[in-house]
Amino acid sequence: MDEKIKNTINLSKKIRKDIIYLSFLKKTAHLGSSLSCVDIISYIYELIINKKNNNKFILSKGHAASTIYSALYRKKFISEKIFFSYCEVGSSLEEHPSPNIRGIECATGSLGHGFPFANGLALANKIRNKKEKTIVMISDGECNEGTTWEAAMFASAQNLKNLTLIIDYNKWQATGRSDKILSLKPLDKKFQSFGWEVISINGHNFNQINRAFKKKNKKPKVIIANTVKGSGIKSIEDDNNWHYRSPNHEELKYFLKELDK
Ligand SMILES: [Mg+2]
Repeated sequence: MDEKIKNTINLSKKIRKDIIYLSFLKKTAHLGSSLSCVDIISYIYELIINKKNNNKFILSKGHAASTIYSALYRKKFISEKIFFSYCEVGSSLEEHPSPNIRGIECATGSLGHGFPFANGLALANKIRNKKEKTIVMISDGECNEGTTWEAAMFASAQNLKNLTLIIDYNKWQATGRSDKILSLKPLDKKFQSFGWEVISINGHNFNQINRAFKKKNKKPKVIIANTVKGSGIKSIEDDNNWHYRSPNHEELKYFLKELDK
């Protein structure tokens, strides 16, 4: 197996343990949403973003903040002390991301804002002839926001081919099945008709993630990542109760053991 993919798998494992432990320690919600995007975010921080380049990642689904905080900690953007200050009074790591630290470009979590912001970064790079990449991740529930579709039109109109959008399509949002609350189907055709290059993948398969990011594009690119809420912990996978629950001590021990299997 490619060394870089092996490193990505290892990083994913560390991030999953970190966010489960944080959710237990700080009694915070959104464990399921944080776990569904771990594999893609690991790939981004292993292969695309590092301290030496100026590539940017915006987590527009800001409720999964613990995942990006763990990636920033594991890749040494932030210290262990800052990482474990998560959600404490006065900490720069709030429950939803704020641009208090290196690696967080804008405040997100109020849904529908990160994608338009990423458009602005990508447009600025295009105007200045810079090669930096902009990557933004939204949730499937976030596709209910009007600003998502305004941003999709804008990126296409400006031909922002330096922009990659990822949709963490875990099929759930806060209170139920995404497609029952406001159906997105056919999501691929919607983006195609907006002038995007569309790639649908299994968002937990590293070879598919790798191919999707590597694929050259002449238009803005969207990766529709089919993911599983709670991915990595069998007993909570695809269970929307874990949108708001946090593990107790017994569950913590069980989950960590499961990840070591
Ligand atoms: Mg979702």
